[in-house]
Amino acid sequence: MYDCIIIGAGPAGLTGAIYLLRNGKKIKIIEKETIGGKITSSSRVENYPGFKSISGSELADNLYDQVTYLGGDVDIEEVLKINDGKIKEVVTDEGIYQTKTIIIATGTHYNVLGLENEDNFLGNGISFCTVCDGSFYKNKDVAVIGGGNSAIINAIYLSSICKTVYLVVRGMSLKGDKKFINELLTKDNVKILYKSKVIKYLGNDELDGIIVNNDNKEIKINVSGVFLSIGQNPETELFNGLIDLDNDNYINAGEECRTNVLGIFVAGDVRSKKIRQLTTAINDGTIAALNVIDYLSSNKDKE
Ligand SMILES: Cc1cc2nc3c(=O)[nH]c(=O)nc-3n(C[C@H](O)[C@H](O)[C@H](O)COP(=O)(O)OP(=O)(O)OC[C@H]3O[C@@H](n4cnc5c(N)ncnc54)[C@H](O)[C@@H]3O)c2cc1C
Repeated sequence: MYDCIIIGAGPAGLTGAIYLLRNGKKIKIIEKETIGGKITSSSRVENYPGFKSISGSELADNLYDQVTYLGGDVDIEEVLKINDGKIKEVVTDEGIYQTKTIIIATGTHYNVLGLENEDNFLGNGISFCTVCDGSFYKNKDVAVIGGGNSAIINAIYLSSICKTVYLVVRGMSLKGDKKFINELLTKDNVKILYKSKVIKYLGNDELDGIIVNNDNKEIKINVSGVFLSIGQNPETELFNGLIDLDNDNYINAGEECRTNVLGIFVAGDVRSKKIRQLTTAINDGTIAALNVIDYLSSNKDKE
């Protein structure tokens, strides 16, 4: 029996783990893919207090180191279901685990364009992660799709590896930090296409181009790689029916990170909120963990 099972080992889940481990709680951290969560795919983080500039994977390694230093570890399993009750059950592809409390920190996943052939090219020409896949496109032409911070940072990163980087922006302007936009604009090999959207992927076995609707004109761009940076969706499908979700399927919970189900807490990007950043994720991880500790001590007498 665990005191708490944390679902998701991103910054929110790992922060929660640090607080619970330091409090002597028996916990299990479950992660289905990448320890450290989404930030591992970012080449540069420059707004995380305490670090002028750090790569996402280094930040994730530091967090994981801290968890293992405190005696914790992360189990690579996928949570498929949770059953509520006084004792809660977490069902994964590996087993069923009993716990007194749960922190849901499952984050979000990347959006795709939903075009024909997209599935075939995912991982084979279409990528989300410049740090992981950028070097495959050394001296080649690539496109980054999106107009926010992730897209801008990805385009800057790729500009030092690739021959030409096309930044395909749906709107008429970029929606990122001024600092990143200014840096992007100094890159001679980045070509920004405003009022543009990809309408077709080209290629047989491998991607070799895209058709873009550019201000109502169709243009063909020869690229070997496409990096999608067009936002995210919450990982909440498996909680549907048990946990209250908002209209966009994020978990409804206030700043206290308590869900509608007693003993089940939420932390990070998966929570309904306006700002999704590392700092807001670790903020939630802290609050959820401290509320778990509170919940466990106030329910101790009733056991
Ligand atoms: C390219 C990129 C660059 C970014 N740059 C910055 C930046 O510079 N500064 C900043 O503040 N933020 C940045 N962010 C945002 C930041 O990464 C997120 O706000 C942060 O990762 C949220 O942490 P989280 O723990 O809530 O969720 P996530 O990082 O999404 O982690 C959730 C984890 O839960 C796991 N999971 C999901 N479902 C299950 C399941 N069923 N079973 C088990 N595990 C599951 C996932 O695999 C994932 O590892 C960036 C994001 C991206 C993608």
